[in-house]
Amino acid sequence: MKQNSEPSFRDSVNMMFSRAVKLMDLPPGLEEKIRVCNATYTVRFGVRLRGQIQTFTGYRAVHSEHMEPVKGGIRYASSVNQDEVEALAALMTFKCALVETPFGGSKGGLCIDPREWDEHELEQITRRFAYELAKRDLIHPSQNVPAPDMGTGEREMAWIADQYARMNTTDINSRACVTGKPINAGGIQGRTEATGRGVEYALQEFFRHPEDIAKAGMSGDLDGKRVIVQGLGNVGYHAAKFLSEDDGSKVTGVIERDGAIVNEEGIDVEELRHWIATHGGVANYPEGTFVEDGSLVLEHECDILIPAALEGVIHLGNAANIKAPLIIEAANGPVTAGADEILRKKGTVIIPDLYANAGGVTVSYFEWVKNLSHIRFGRMEKRQEEAQHLLLVSELERLSADKELGWELSKNFKDKFLRGAGELELVRSGLDDTMRTAYQAMREVWHDRDQVEDLRIAGYLVSIDRIASSYRAKGL
Ligand code: NAD
Repeated sequence: MKQNSEPSFRDSVNMMFSRAVKLMDLPPGLEEKIRVCNATYTVRFGVRLRGQIQTFTGYRAVHSEHMEPVKGGIRYASSVNQDEVEALAALMTFKCALVETPFGGSKGGLCIDPREWDEHELEQITRRFAYELAKRDLIHPSQNVPAPDMGTGEREMAWIADQYARMNTTDINSRACVTGKPINAGGIQGRTEATGRGVEYALQEFFRHPEDIAKAGMSGDLDGKRVIVQGLGNVGYHAAKFLSEDDGSKVTGVIERDGAIVNEEGIDVEELRHWIATHGGVANYPEGTFVEDGSLVLEHECDILIPAALEGVIHLGNAANIKAPLIIEAANGPVTAGADEILRKKGTVIIPDLYANAGGVTVSYFEWVKNLSHIRFGRMEKRQEEAQHLLLVSELERLSADKELGWELSKNFKDKFLRGAGELELVRSGLDDTMRTAYQAMREVWHDRDQVEDLRIAGYLVSIDRIASSYRAKGL
């Protein structure tokens, strides 16, 4: 059970921030400037649906404008509130600085259970919400660029982009007003999978460092590691899929809204996802044991725990029972500040949210750049690259034939080497590089600075230092 003494999500983020700034030497006032949320706009609007006017409440919080545009997802959930949106906006600021995407932090939310409305109704609601935000420049290619979050996806982003374009008919950059769009509406290859893919790349990078693996009391690599995932939505599904398909990890538990499925032999992620889509939940899935109180599965034995649903799920009430030696925060804020302290004392290694789920904003950055440059990545270079490679392969083949060296290039090598990089390959390469570089920046601080006990504080230190430099450069 979650305890009442637990701080709010916003307070939890503040406490983590404060723990980091205590180790810094920021000029007076700057700490407060970086901590506070600059502005939060609340909107209540009506939409005529089902024969009556339905009123909805939405928010857009702008945490920091040290860089513009500001960036952050829009969440649809009945639990959305100002505190949550502000906490998420703050995390966006720190995340963008850590992975070096040139944005300030923002976040939006609409109090709505999207499952209660049909597609046409959701479109009307989304367009009206977008209208309210766009007319105040809270959706704008150079001011504020939303993206998907819980309860929203490509479809909603396409509606938002279209609504903005209708209101700004002469803006040639209008598509850059939102990211996470479908390809045919100006999206980029690899955006939908990006956050889950980033979680995979983050884990791959962690397992490249024996010192870090040892800190978690683990050994080896991702192959054979038992993984429990909470939330098989966009982020959790892609992370679980890639880890099991590409890295040899075994998904032994999946926790969803209606309960959990456990199977020590490994769960087929595709099959379970399909089951959820057709049955509305995990209950009665035949290939595993159903646990009605899904949250108990967070406490099961496993190697890697991936909370990928919502915030505050690991709290003062269950932190001591968590057995996973390694937690990667695919969701934002899944571990409360109190739970974080308990886990730290236990020696659990946490790969923190501001880094772990930054794959989404990283590829959103690529999409925004693509929209502003009006050309897809790789369009100019791909065939030129292939021609160069072909030249080399032909020459090698000629040499081997002429001199009877007795070797030939394997077909597999030729096929792979000859293929020039298209947009998806370039996006994945940029994402992988971003996740590696940011991890290395964090771990350097983690290992080199005496008072830094954990990756989270290391991440905050790297990030706050960069934000402080931006403010200094502006003369503040
Ligand atoms: P989503 O709506 O696609 O998926 C959320 C999943 O969690 C759904 O399958 C839902 O059924 C499940 N869920 C909801 N409540 C649950 C509960 N109480 N117990 C177990 N499962 C529950 O959302 P998403 O986009 O995957 O986002 C998940 C988390 O990742 C959020 O914290 C979000 O802020 C964060 N995140 C998302 C992105 C992105 O690109 N979508 C980027 C960064 C961070």
